Amino acid sequence: MNLILFGPPGSGKGTQAKRLVETRGMVQLSTGDMLRAAIASGSELGERVKDVLARGDLVSDEIVIALIEERLPETEAAGGAIFDGFPRTVAQAEALDAMLAGRGARIDTVIRLLVDEPALLARVTGRFEEQGRPDDNPETFKTRLAAYNAQTAPLLPYYEGQGKLRAVDGMGSPDTVSQAIEASLQTVQA
Ligand code: AMP
Repeated sequence: MNLILFGPPGSGKGTQAKRLVETRGMVQLSTGDMLRAAIASGSELGERVKDVLARGDLVSDEIVIALIEERLPETEAAGGAIFDGFPRTVAQAEALDAMLAGRGARIDTVIRLLVDEPALLARVTGRFEEQGRPDDNPETFKTRLAAYNAQTAPLLPYYEGQGKLRAVDGMGSPDTVSQAIEASLQTVQA
């Protein structure tokens, strides 16, 4: 099964993706993690994207599509991918559909984590204090949320139109949210 965990920054995509890796053995594909690793390694790609991440803007579609394409083969052997933070634009979603179709695969479901804005801000502020991730500071978070609303939220009608969108209450504890995701996945015909 290939699934997308969808939601604004701080909605719990990364936390829930890691849980699904544990319980289902699927592969987590987080473009944010890949970009942060590139920056930490000091690679040419890292140099190109570091200012964009620091500002809270989106990097180009071309860059993240290439990162995902490279990783698709390994997800097939594992029984599927959990896309975390990708796609973030309609162009990325179209490219993902085309890449998967070329491999005889598809997105089976999109799980939308519903978390309200005050809770997002509280979570990201907490993560900033604990982990010191620079783009979690409250100012940059505003830019990331604006990017979500302008560029990523339009994916909701895209996946709704494909009949793949499932909403899950993301306000509870990680355990409660995991249970709700599992219950939702039980209804997916993969
Ligand atoms: P995340 O860890 O998913 O919140 O991503 C951190 C940052 O990486 C984002 O604020 C963007 O700058 C960049 N990024 C991650 N995934 C994407 C994507 N799919 N498209 C464009 N930029 C991305």
